[in-house]
Amino acid sequence: MPERKSYDCVVVGAGSFGAWTALRLRQAGRSVALVDARGAGNPLSSSGGASRLIRMGYGSDEIYTRWAMRSLEAWRELFARVGRPELFQPTGVLWTARSGHPHARHSLAILEKLKLPHESLSPSEMRRRYPQLHCSGDVIAILEPGSGVLLAHRAVRAVAQEAERRGVEILSAQVTPAMPPFAAGETIFACGPWLPKLFPEVVGSRIQVTRQPVFYFDAPASAMPAWIDFSDPRGAYSVPPLDGQGFKLALDRHGPAFDPDTGSREATAAETAEASAFLRERFPALAGAPLVRAEVCQYESTCTGDFLIDRHPELPHVWLVGGGSGHGFKHGPAVGEYVARMLDGAAADPRFSWQSKTAAFSRTVY
Ligand SMILES: Cc1cc2nc3c(=O)[nH]c(=O)nc-3n(C[C@H](O)[C@H](O)[C@H](O)COP(=O)(O)OP(=O)(O)OC[C@H]3O[C@@H](n4cnc5c(N)ncnc54)[C@H](O)[C@@H]3O)c2cc1C
Repeated sequence: MPERKSYDCVVVGAGSFGAWTALRLRQAGRSVALVDARGAGNPLSSSGGASRLIRMGYGSDEIYTRWAMRSLEAWRELFARVGRPELFQPTGVLWTARSGHPHARHSLAILEKLKLPHESLSPSEMRRRYPQLHCSGDVIAILEPGSGVLLAHRAVRAVAQEAERRGVEILSAQVTPAMPPFAAGETIFACGPWLPKLFPEVVGSRIQVTRQPVFYFDAPASAMPAWIDFSDPRGAYSVPPLDGQGFKLALDRHGPAFDPDTGSREATAAETAEASAFLRERFPALAGAPLVRAEVCQYESTCTGDFLIDRHPELPHVWLVGGGSGHGFKHGPAVGEYVARMLDGAAADPRFSWQSKTAAFSRTVY
């Protein structure tokens, strides 16, 4: 039997969490391999879409605002270093909510406390500036001019390539926890929506994987920022046409349970009709715009929306990193830095612990 290669750390899963973790561990001086069954940012993975928002407002969850700030800096540094600055599109992010909505109030307080550039727009100012967006009633709008959109799967590939350039070994293999094809001091499973299948006993009911369709409509280029709404129970967001992709629209509400290997990646007629109706309602000028493309991705959510970043409760030297919960992509750099600190013995934040993840779901982090 050939001798298995040995590393200080092996990261399994080259999505946003795993690719950044491998890069940060390598930068901390460790020998690292990054293994993925299908490759960095592959289309079945949660990081595999065309675009992901990076915004700072996180209600009262200041840690995520701080992580988003830190991560945006790291993404931009990396893109500059590899000569791909276009992988961050500084569209700005506009978010809307009913006036007095606690999430908006708390976000504003933290944006102010951390001196993050933002503008609070009155309903009339919002309607004057963004006539294409229909908001009824007493709405408040906050614009984060420095936030924007990461070109997701390409951005993850850029991270993996940079990791390789710095000495991380990139491997292609389907890893089984019981029989890994390598020897490692620490093995970090950053397997996104596959974590519950890989660790059914320990993760099974603690991460729910749900079907999330995304739609792209034909639309002219516009000066509209990326948009996210916190009051609509459907939880919508949109991305302006970028890079020939069309106007992206999706509902953030959790869909039905989904299997990342076998679930159908085709949007249903009912899902398409709902998205078209939403477009008509909130972007009336785009009513009837042709649908150019639809894709089905998945969220892998924890009970609160807080990430899972902890040691496996039973297996020594095994780490579980995931639970991106529909908002994790942007935080890849901060997640990688957190894992690297944990491996150096830093104190853990209970928010990310395995213990805090239960099967009683009530989302609090948006
Ligand atoms: C439609 C949609 C919109 C979203 N919008 C946003 C947004 O606007 N902003 C934001 O910040 N976040 C957003 N998210 C969430 C974000 O994309 C995810 O939280 C994030 O990409 C998760 O990354 P990950 O690295 O944990 O998982 P993944 O990207 O899924 O990576 C896991 C990797 O593990 C590999 N793998 C799995 N099992 C094995 C195995 N046994 N052996 C080897 N390899 C294995 C897979 O091939 C995969 O590449 C969105 C998600 C979706 C689906």
